[in-house]
Amino acid sequence: MASAEIIAVGTELLLGQIVNSNAAFISQELAADGIYVYHHTVVGDNPERLKEVIKIAENRSDILIFTGGLGPTEDDITKQILAKHLKKDLVTDQFHMNKITEYFTSRSRTMTENNKLQAVIIEGSTVLNNDYGFAAGMFLKENNHTYILLPGPPSEMKPMFTRYANPLIVNENGGKTILESKILRFFGIGESQLAADLNDLIVTQVNPTIATYAGDNEVVVRVTATAKTKEEAAKLVNETEQEILRRDGTFLYGYGEVSLPELVTAMLLERKITISAAESFTAGLFQAEIARFPGISKIFKGGMVTYSAETKQSILEVSSQVIKEKGVVSSECASEMADNVRRLCNTDIGISFTGVAGPDSLEGHPAGTIWIGLSVKNHQTEAYQFVYGRDRNHNRRRAVKQGFQLIKQFLDANA
Ligand code: ATP
Ligand code: MG
Repeated sequence: MASAEIIAVGTELLLGQIVNSNAAFISQELAADGIYVYHHTVVGDNPERLKEVIKIAENRSDILIFTGGLGPTEDDITKQILAKHLKKDLVTDQFHMNKITEYFTSRSRTMTENNKLQAVIIEGSTVLNNDYGFAAGMFLKENNHTYILLPGPPSEMKPMFTRYANPLIVNENGGKTILESKILRFFGIGESQLAADLNDLIVTQVNPTIATYAGDNEVVVRVTATAKTKEEAAKLVNETEQEILRRDGTFLYGYGEVSLPELVTAMLLERKITISAAESFTAGLFQAEIARFPGISKIFKGGMVTYSAETKQSILEVSSQVIKEKGVVSSECASEMADNVRRLCNTDIGISFTGVAGPDSLEGHPAGTIWIGLSVKNHQTEAYQFVYGRDRNHNRRRAVKQGFQLIKQFLDANA
């Protein structure tokens, strides 16, 4: 399989004045072609350094894709340097030359000499039309390498790439390759742990490839395979997925672009199970999350935020004995909160969150000590303890997600 390197030319990129979005775009397109991109290079508008970059790229990549520096000004040097390097002449492309001339004639403006530069191409190259500008693009094969030159402005570069450059690339590389990818979502395991569990696969596997990403309190694994047919690619993905699940399947909660709250909400809606929540340190985060989904009024009845020990008693009717003897960071308090909110709101499920958000400790419990109570009609009420770190808002978000996970586990076990 061919490898490609994207070389973005422009001092503005090095200065951080613009972000190299061209490389991101082209990489995504090439991935869909089944072409490996092993290097992104950024180089300033400097002849010596550009020449150096070309030599390095030739040593390690089959396809060199340049963006930027095709314009009419002094600092636009890409094709000039590449032509010199390949010992080729620059010639005029008549199509683009006419386009430029017509533009200036139709507006009765005099064309400066440097504008003609945009119609100049490296001899022997296939011209890539610029449908939204004047600078011609180029596709050139030479000494076992393919060189593609694209303009810098994304509005010109993207259409040129997809309409003209990409079909040539695909054609040169054995026709269309099918790309299958699957996203696996995990909760309750850290990215480093998951990556360690899958390390041998991640390091040695070329097809499919496995990539892990840390999300907000979750880990996403993307498995991507390329093959000539969809079935073949899907089979490769499936085999790798099974191996991943054999190792860490207990933490999997879903596939694709789905979130844990979304998944759980859909299950509740589908099974017409009503829910209410009593929240202490999450202070409404769980309820805010659940309310994001349309149609939720069918199953979400309400709940309360009882932040202080006092409101836990006065509003939620938690017994003073539990508060006095066990404290608010306790299994008993979490259970009573869940039971009582379920009773008060008359729902099938009552969930509660109580604990120490942090960064300070509370009642002798370190920051990040939390309890989640789950009260379900006709089931024994359970309270679960988790110990997180000291980051207050991280703990609050993580607890909410954990709450959804506990509900999911209950629903899965009682399907
Ligand atoms: P022009 O004819 O506009 O001069 P050019 O092909 O010479 O085009 P550059 O001069 O290098 O390209 O860049 C022109 C503009 O294109 C930049 O100011 C920037 O807005 C955008 N651009 C260039 N390179 C990139 C890149 N790698 N990613 C995103 N945008 C870019
Ligand atoms: Mg320019």
